[in-house]
Amino acid sequence: MMSARPGARMKWRHRRSRIKHAPDDIIRIAIAGNPNAGKTSIFNALTGQSQHVGNYPGVTVEQKIGRIDYDGYTLEFVDLPGTYSLSAFSIEEMVARDFVLREKPDVIIDVLDSTNLERNLYLCLQFQELGMPIVGVLNMSDEARRNGISIDEKQLGIILGIPFVKTIGSRGIGMQELLGKTLAVAQGRIPSNVRHLNYGVELETQHNRIIQSLQSDPTFVDNFPPHWIAIKLLENDSDAVTKIQKQHVSSESVLATAHDSREWIRKHFGEDSEIVVGEQRYAYIHGACREVVQTEESPNRSDYTEMIDRIVLNKYCGLGIFVGIMFMIYQLTFKLGRPLSDYIDHLFGWIQTVVQSILPNGIIKDLIVEGIIGGVGGVLVFFPIVVLLFLGLSFLEDTGYLARAAFVMDKFMHLFGLHGRSFIPMMVSTGCAVPGVMSARTLVNPKDRVLTIMIAPLMMCSAKTPVIAMLTAAFFPKYAGTVFWSIWIIGWLVSLLIAKLFRNTIYKGEASPFVMELPPYRMPTLRGIFTHMWEKSWSYVKKAGTFILAASIIIWFILYFPRSQETVQSYQNKMGVLTTAYTEHLATLTSENERQLVTEQYLQQVSIIQNQLARDELEHSVGGRLGRFIEPMFKPCGFDWRLDIALMAGFAAKEVIISTMGIVYGIGESDLEADIAGEHIASPLKQKLSNDPHYHPGNMLALMIFVLIYVPCLATLAVVKKELGKWRYPLFLAGYTLFFAWLLAVIVFQGTRLLGIGG
Ligand code: GDP
Ligand code: MG
Repeated sequence: MMSARPGARMKWRHRRSRIKHAPDDIIRIAIAGNPNAGKTSIFNALTGQSQHVGNYPGVTVEQKIGRIDYDGYTLEFVDLPGTYSLSAFSIEEMVARDFVLREKPDVIIDVLDSTNLERNLYLCLQFQELGMPIVGVLNMSDEARRNGISIDEKQLGIILGIPFVKTIGSRGIGMQELLGKTLAVAQGRIPSNVRHLNYGVELETQHNRIIQSLQSDPTFVDNFPPHWIAIKLLENDSDAVTKIQKQHVSSESVLATAHDSREWIRKHFGEDSEIVVGEQRYAYIHGACREVVQTEESPNRSDYTEMIDRIVLNKYCGLGIFVGIMFMIYQLTFKLGRPLSDYIDHLFGWIQTVVQSILPNGIIKDLIVEGIIGGVGGVLVFFPIVVLLFLGLSFLEDTGYLARAAFVMDKFMHLFGLHGRSFIPMMVSTGCAVPGVMSARTLVNPKDRVLTIMIAPLMMCSAKTPVIAMLTAAFFPKYAGTVFWSIWIIGWLVSLLIAKLFRNTIYKGEASPFVMELPPYRMPTLRGIFTHMWEKSWSYVKKAGTFILAASIIIWFILYFPRSQETVQSYQNKMGVLTTAYTEHLATLTSENERQLVTEQYLQQVSIIQNQLARDELEHSVGGRLGRFIEPMFKPCGFDWRLDIALMAGFAAKEVIISTMGIVYGIGESDLEADIAGEHIASPLKQKLSNDPHYHPGNMLALMIFVLIYVPCLATLAVVKKELGKWRYPLFLAGYTLFFAWLLAVIVFQGTRLLGIGG
């Protein structure tokens, strides 16, 4: 594919490949490759301890740099983020590609996973298109051998015009050869990247048309390799279009040419040109691999992976196994976690009581007892459950089962217009929706990605866990694990159905086909599992101690003020009357039994008055009035104003629902009776709820479903905005989830009423 004006092309080539002759020159090398291909292992093996970590400019993607001296030269290595492609869909892809375009490293070391060569070569071809000198690394060569895959690296090198080296990155094997070839390529002693793949006559013709149009402006060619940008324009790559618009004086005519070319291709092939280009690459790779890769069909390869897969990936039982595994995880979580959680609950109750008896009456005491201990404590009570849940999830992840489950779910997800790849973001959201939303980056098709991001936050996350765990413990104590698991399933079903709905309305189209990977099973290390579990669990505690604490204090103030002196006065009067009557009555009695009876009655009445006062004051507060104000809206769901307050507060974070409930039922209730009886330990929130006649399994089920679905927390909305760029996405997400949550809660509550279940 020679350009019409070779001189222009030379300029770019000349700039990037400053050939190193003199020692002491720094040779700059970027290490690229698919995620998990072994880049970091190779980077570490090459650079040893001499590394430092920074960020790529403008983004929070980590950049590791390491330098070594070799053969009189200084080699500087950069570990690029892992990507499958160099399109402009994810931050990693943009970072990797801009780094290469801007920094123009002398050599790219492309690390390929030998067990998955076809898939990995896709990225390699794209670096080739950038016109970079490349050294290909066939890493994981040990795994490949074990799987009976042999690769003829010499032949592959000849076909692609790139030198290849076989390595085992994790054991540092092959590094000397790699260094030698890298230096030789940098010096131009070994030719690299002398050939481009041929896209076939039709595409090549269109490609050349665009190159010619590009070269009508000589200033442009200095910045980007024309060969590459022309391909990107054929692929309708948004970033390439922007680059052209910024840097090319006659951008309009170039873009018009590109548009014509794409149209021509679409008519000719009956497919969008980006698809045709992609297919051509795959076809080329597939062909190349057939020539150089030999797979031994050894009959004794009935290894563990194979055996387990035969069951786990089975068309019929796969889904059942996945759901069953989750059932067991939730059962175990609750069986083991509940007693621990109850223990902590009592501990906080005890602390509350102690603090209550030490501090003098007043606002400070109320703030600490009701606001801080009641709020934050309520969230921390569920720590054991969260830890166990994360333990289960980390185990699934580290064994490689989750990647399998994605595979199993692929067919099922297609029923709902989604892709198996959407499974991982949804599953990650079972821990927390923030990384869940971010992991949707692996979805290359923008529509698939948006759709996945719109539904992933509906999953049960670790912040909804305490709320739902508390409610199941209070209202379904015998079947906590099962009810919890059912709510988890409801989360899945609702989000899948919503996906289907959106697919048929606002995000029309088919889920784009894509290769699914099947990594081998790995025996997870205990250390790995515990590290993962601990990282996630610790962030739960940290959040409780910072964000939830702050929110609890604010909410306490909102629910405590303004106090009404009149109300207090009127209750004090009532109390006075009651006490006078009681003392007078007592004086007339002589029998010990009668006296005791009257005292008990008196204490009961005191308790009722105290409770009324507390409730009146809560209702009088700013938060209380707000709750009263929106109460009519949630009446059909079976929620009263006290729940409404907690749900509103839950916009900030779902744990805040629990802490707010702790405060609401702490302020709005008095345990005076027990106080006087001298046996007071503040009763756990779940007990207060289950004792409250307003609450019963019917409206509590509606509440659980509402909490599951309604508006994701602020952190999730923020990350959605960050990932998708526009405010309308998080706004839409918040709006539609609120609507669906309300609707489903109404259906559940009214349904249970009609059926006469609940109360
Ligand atoms: P990166 O995501 O590309 O940076 O990949 P890493 O370097 O983090 O490697 C991913 C995993 O593969 C790690 O567990 C490595 O120990 C392992 N690994 C790397 N290279 C090899 C190899 O050549 N053979 C085998 N068996 N494992 C490897
Ligand atoms: Mg890495």
